Amino acid sequence: MVCAYIGLGSNLAQPLEQVRRAIAELDQIPETRVLAHSRWYRSVAVGPGDQPDYINAVAELETDLEAHALLDQLQAIEQAHQRVRLERWGPRTLDLDLLLYGDDIIATERLTVPHAYLKERNFVLFPLADLARDLTLPSGESLESLLALSTSDGLEALED
Ligand code: AMP
Repeated sequence: MVCAYIGLGSNLAQPLEQVRRAIAELDQIPETRVLAHSRWYRSVAVGPGDQPDYINAVAELETDLEAHALLDQLQAIEQAHQRVRLERWGPRTLDLDLLLYGDDIIATERLTVPHAYLKERNFVLFPLADLARDLTLPSGESLESLLALSTSDGLEALED
């Protein structure tokens, strides 16, 4: 069993509902179980244009799937949410990122783990800290040290 962390984000089509549903769907992945999830966070969209705020969270899984097989499952869930999107909504209904896969460092065409944004995005660091404040990344950096360099600007934890 490997412990993996998944970042979830949505800014369309009832984002909180998308994220809640995605957590339930993560628990349905074969050979995989959701152990816990962070609080829900509202974050100001990064990137061009006037976008609605995001809802973000992080889920902690234990899995027997190999990392690329897990990515296949994450992409299948994204696609299922996207189908709803194509009928009625714009892009970006659900984004699922494999943030950490045990202590593995992975650099393939399809997969970069730890996720490229993990260290610099407060909407990843803060929810991750809800689950594993004492976490050390494969690089040896502590989550605490990354949080110390980060601010909670544009980020708000929601009351459940
Ligand atoms: P995005 O929709 O912006 O999250 O990008 C999706 C693309 O990122 C896919 O083609 C994945 O193969 C690639 N990717 C690379 N590393 C990761 C990761 N750690 N988690 C999720 N997708 C990843």
